[in-house]
Amino acid sequence: MEPTLEIYDTTLRDGSQQEGISLTVSDKLRVARLLDDLGVTFIEGGWPGANQKDTEFFQRAQHELDLGAARLVAFGMTRRPNGDTETDAVMGQLLDAGTEHLCIVGKAWDYHVTEALRVDLDEGVRMVADSVQYLRSKDRHVFFDAEHFFDGYRANPGYAMDILAAAHESGAERLVLCDTNGGTLPHEVSRILAEVQAGLPGAQLGVHFHNDTGTAVASSLLAVDAGVRQVQGCLNGYGERTGNADLSILIPDLQLKMGIDAIPEENLPLLSPTAHHLAEIVNIALDPHRPYVGHSAFTHKAGLHTSALARRPDAYEHEPPATVGNTTRMLVSEMAGKASIHSKASELGLDMDDELARRVIERVKDLEHKGYHFEAADGSFELLVRDLTGWEQTYFALESFRVDTIRRADEEVTAEATVKIVVDGERRLSVGEGVGPVHALDQALREALRSRHPVVSDLRLVDYRVRVLDSSDGTSAKVRVLLETANHHESWSTIGVHENVIEASWEALVDGIVVGLLRAERD
Ligand SMILES: [Zn+2]
Repeated sequence: MEPTLEIYDTTLRDGSQQEGISLTVSDKLRVARLLDDLGVTFIEGGWPGANQKDTEFFQRAQHELDLGAARLVAFGMTRRPNGDTETDAVMGQLLDAGTEHLCIVGKAWDYHVTEALRVDLDEGVRMVADSVQYLRSKDRHVFFDAEHFFDGYRANPGYAMDILAAAHESGAERLVLCDTNGGTLPHEVSRILAEVQAGLPGAQLGVHFHNDTGTAVASSLLAVDAGVRQVQGCLNGYGERTGNADLSILIPDLQLKMGIDAIPEENLPLLSPTAHHLAEIVNIALDPHRPYVGHSAFTHKAGLHTSALARRPDAYEHEPPATVGNTTRMLVSEMAGKASIHSKASELGLDMDDELARRVIERVKDLEHKGYHFEAADGSFELLVRDLTGWEQTYFALESFRVDTIRRADEEVTAEATVKIVVDGERRLSVGEGVGPVHALDQALREALRSRHPVVSDLRLVDYRVRVLDSSDGTSAKVRVLLETANHHESWSTIGVHENVIEASWEALVDGIVVGLLRAERD
């Protein structure tokens, strides 16, 4: 049997170096479970001893983390210069992590050995050999990360190869060629990799690319094609600077385009939900244009295109989106033809005949002329269609609202809103407080609805964006508000346009809540 490719995720170590990412120990345990469910081979959990959090992670992992097929790996350095492995703190911390697999990093670029470590080149080799031998003697599987390998190989190929050979002969089971500074292009990767394979024919190689030249995935694919055993990266491409090789692209590329098993085939539809779940944990919105897993990865706009797509999806999509757990989306805009209106309506579960479609297109064109933009407002579009069928929302009717912003001498700014509405023939008045006027209005409206429609408590405002539309006709500028509301399992966008930002926000807010109430009835 062919040895299988190993997918090695380093989100919890290298990925956590990304600006803006800070994971708690509990977050790290959640991420490890997610990666395990997805089916990666190895999960690098962190650097025990380097910080308290990673030390605690490995302690808790031993009791709390019941992984399926994935194996946890602890990461660390080789022993300190001119030191002794038995008494080396890092060696001890690696062993204390309690994992069967360890990955140690050593310097493969002579320049770093003499300038950063300040030792002679022979000691550089001994540090690698001693550390690997020692950890192997403690019955651990050892992987060796050759730091700055590609830069080192260009500068002094003999020394870079000596480092690899030392790790190999000492028992390292994978020699991982790292492009630590991320400056190596794919064609150089191919050349250097071929030379390493010729120089060390028995070694099992791995690769670790950073995306500084935008080619981390491309280089990884070439390396896998050339026969490396292990490929390292991060789901969603997290990592310092521009990130590591993005496993959410690499995995489906390997699986769907190259026919190589990267994760168990039945797990591939978990890819998009896992990528989104991870983005939620690290608290960085996932780029909608990200290949395979982004919200817009299978989105279609032009009218002609969507009518053909409705008949023959394979003509316009490189893969069926469901294979990676994503979905086709149709955008509604004045460019749209009847077919895309029909597709959008069926996506929303609405019946539509040709006559209704014609009226919808007319209304969309008219409103887009006034500054609305339904592409990004599927919730408001749904209400527009319902409105044209004669549907009316009967949840409440507005009598009036009022918002005040209060700025005190100590510079604290708060907002207060009063909303008067009629619910089931009964007049209600409620007051809401918030950090800003829209927040206060949202609070007041929900408060007024809560006793009759308790489900409003489950709705959350997740995004609020305002854009000033240009006023080329000399009138006062309009603003467009886009708002995203979510319940426990889905989200929808709504829109408001007005000269007054509060009125535009109110419009979007009301649409957001009405759609939320409709979804609650349907579920
Ligand atoms: Zn790295």
